Amino acid sequence: MSDTYTAPGAQQFIPPQADTLAELRAAATGCRGCELYRDASQTVFGRGDATARIVFVGEQPGDMEDQKGLPFVGPAGRLLRRAVDDAGLDPSHIYLTNAVKHFRFELRGRRRIHQTPDRVHIAACRPWLVSEFAQLNPEVVVVLGATAAKALLGPTFRVTRQRGELLPWPAAAQHPEDFQRVPVDNAGRTADAPPARLLATIHPSAVLRADNQEIAYDGLVADLTVAARVLAA
Ligand code: SF4
Repeated sequence: MSDTYTAPGAQQFIPPQADTLAELRAAATGCRGCELYRDASQTVFGRGDATARIVFVGEQPGDMEDQKGLPFVGPAGRLLRRAVDDAGLDPSHIYLTNAVKHFRFELRGRRRIHQTPDRVHIAACRPWLVSEFAQLNPEVVVVLGATAAKALLGPTFRVTRQRGELLPWPAAAQHPEDFQRVPVDNAGRTADAPPARLLATIHPSAVLRADNQEIAYDGLVADLTVAARVLAA
């Protein structure tokens, strides 16, 4: 996809009155905000409870996620679950989502090979991420890898340089105003977001690709342990 490609974006598919994650999830099934819906099997929306204390944002669904319609159910998701356990995070407190909600891939024979989403896909899909956050009130946001960092923190953020560092949320976002309001009840009332934290780390798929998986895995767990300490404080 060339850099000149433009996409209409997801905004027009988001019901303006939606006030639950379930409504957003249902609406996202019909998203045509960029061309990725054409080849993928289905939209893979976020998973978890609106009361989640920690929100993980990954890149995009993989092959397995695309087939099952759920995020983080493939090999990278399994590794992330193990890392969550090893870091002492309670999995029931987690909401999992991706910056891009359709699987981008290239066909090689019968194999579907993951392709990193382009800037245009990240921008097109970002309204879904913003709408999810409008239903969530996390104490910690964990950014998994460069694509999620681009979606939330902008193109200049470098995960390799700032991983494991606690940043103020939503102040650290590229557009904090998009994340300023959080829900306070089920009647649609909102309030200014209380101070929360953001932490960036590597995507679990980077551990699977690493030359030394053990070191990469330990690094991921060390970063997640920082998040666990915030929740325990
Ligand atoms: S990737 Fe995002 S913007 Fe593109 S069609 Fe899917 S849900 Fe819509």
